[in-house]
Amino acid sequence: MPFFKKKTSYIRMNPKSVVDQKFKEPDVPKGMFEKCPACKTIIYQKDLGKEKCCPSCGYNFRLGAKERLALIIDGCSFAEWNSDLQTKDPLNFPNYLEKIKITQEKTGLDEAVLTGLAVIDGVEVALGIMDSNFIMGSMGTVVGEKITRLFEQATSQKLPVVLFTASGGARMQEGIMSLMQMAKISGAVKRHSDAGLLYLTILTDPTTGGVTASFAMEGDIILAEPQTLIGFAGRRVIETTMKTQLPDDFQKAEFLLEHGFIDAIVDRFHLKEKIGKILNMHK
Ligand SMILES: [Zn+2]
Repeated sequence: MPFFKKKTSYIRMNPKSVVDQKFKEPDVPKGMFEKCPACKTIIYQKDLGKEKCCPSCGYNFRLGAKERLALIIDGCSFAEWNSDLQTKDPLNFPNYLEKIKITQEKTGLDEAVLTGLAVIDGVEVALGIMDSNFIMGSMGTVVGEKITRLFEQATSQKLPVVLFTASGGARMQEGIMSLMQMAKISGAVKRHSDAGLLYLTILTDPTTGGVTASFAMEGDIILAEPQTLIGFAGRRVIETTMKTQLPDDFQKAEFLLEHGFIDAIVDRFHLKEKIGKILNMHK
């Protein structure tokens, strides 16, 4: 038996406060840093600049339609078309219209595409910009109608169309009505093409589903931003169906360029200049 017995004392602590102290995350103000989805580098927001390109790997971050507009047009040359179209709920999909309203307030947009008349490098164009922040840039009836009217107005005014795509595909909340937009837009693209007018598409991250399967791939000239995801069905779906493993860069802009699906990859710093050159060549 020991002569000296160690005296044990306990300090009672609230278990929650111990956990809080141990795992408390550093207090970083929101929006100060961004993580690059491609190379995982943490970047100080101000270093991204208005182009939002990763300084370490060159990945082009997703831009909202209004941010894109500011980068691409001459001065304040944009006049919006068809902003009065309102999204309906044809299938009575639960909470659909509430979701639209919340997204409209969050993004400041009426729908997932912004269309109108603009000037790029001195050339008047019919411009469309999709926004992946608006329910993944999904294509419902209003998106389909706005893009169709963009082509129809461009045809009647003899203007080229410049369209930035960014979409998760057709909007499931509008079911078959969304899928019908693919054929409707394609018809308008054909009539615009028959009038001898230029259609330029710029595929931005992500361009997938029914948008890829229709108007995104119908451009006379198809450009893409670096490392853009471009595809129809998701990678996992294809791997499971075909029982095969796909290459790492499958469905990336670089892979598509190598296989002849697109014409060129242009980074954001040179995009306006490239679009201007193409437009002026076809004037
Ligand atoms: Zn990066």
